[in-house]
Amino acid sequence: MAEQEPGGVDILAIAAHPDDVELHIAGTVMKSIAQGHRVAICDLTAGERGSRGSRQLRQQETAAANTILGIPEGNRVNLGIPDGDIQLSPANVLKVVGVIRRFRPRVILFPAQRDRHPDHEAAHQLVCRAYFDAGLIAVESNDDDGRAQSPHRPVRMFMYSHSWEDEPDFVVDISDFFERKLDGLAAYGSQFSVPGRNVEDPAMGPQTFISSNEFMEYYIARMRRLGFQIGARYGEGFQTWGGPLKVEDLLSTV
Ligand SMILES: [Zn+2]
Repeated sequence: MAEQEPGGVDILAIAAHPDDVELHIAGTVMKSIAQGHRVAICDLTAGERGSRGSRQLRQQETAAANTILGIPEGNRVNLGIPDGDIQLSPANVLKVVGVIRRFRPRVILFPAQRDRHPDHEAAHQLVCRAYFDAGLIAVESNDDDGRAQSPHRPVRMFMYSHSWEDEPDFVVDISDFFERKLDGLAAYGSQFSVPGRNVEDPAMGPQTFISSNEFMEYYIARMRRLGFQIGARYGEGFQTWGGPLKVEDLLSTV
């Protein structure tokens, strides 16, 4: 493992909404932590425009999910950008730059370029811009205490798909973390119905695209499909961003 600065992490996962990491890449997050890597999560919005639940309830659900995923206190931040209105504005770019410079990750996981939800596509654009700006000396940013932050540019960025799937460049075997991933999803009781764990609660509001049993069954089938492709039970797929992966030893890939 590479030397890390104090407070730094190896992997920073960035998402548009508080339950996106849990749905798409929680297995990879938990596996990385189990391998000894330090992981932080940055949610761009609080998901406050969701049709079900409230802002407060979603904060409680995120706290519960953090415990299940094993995210240390202070390693999950919410930038408070308005849900449904993620703009590629200088102010928003600087917020993401601040998070990249604070956590100083070697790897960033972030939303793929295209999706049905405009926030996911906007998050992709915002992270690409912030990744570049975070490495520029000319872009000035301060930490929470007002101290100037030094430039930092991660080594790699990998993209994850949402509803619209792109074929992955590589798949992470998450079989050993699949059950805990479902626990993390069930923590979002206002949003998801996880077969065998919780049932869709009509009191939370109208049924949505993501609150039905069918939605979660599809995602489980997707993890199964991706796992099958690599000879595992369950998997999560990623696409490379910014050129091909460097391989030093062909045997490290098998
Ligand atoms: Zn989302």
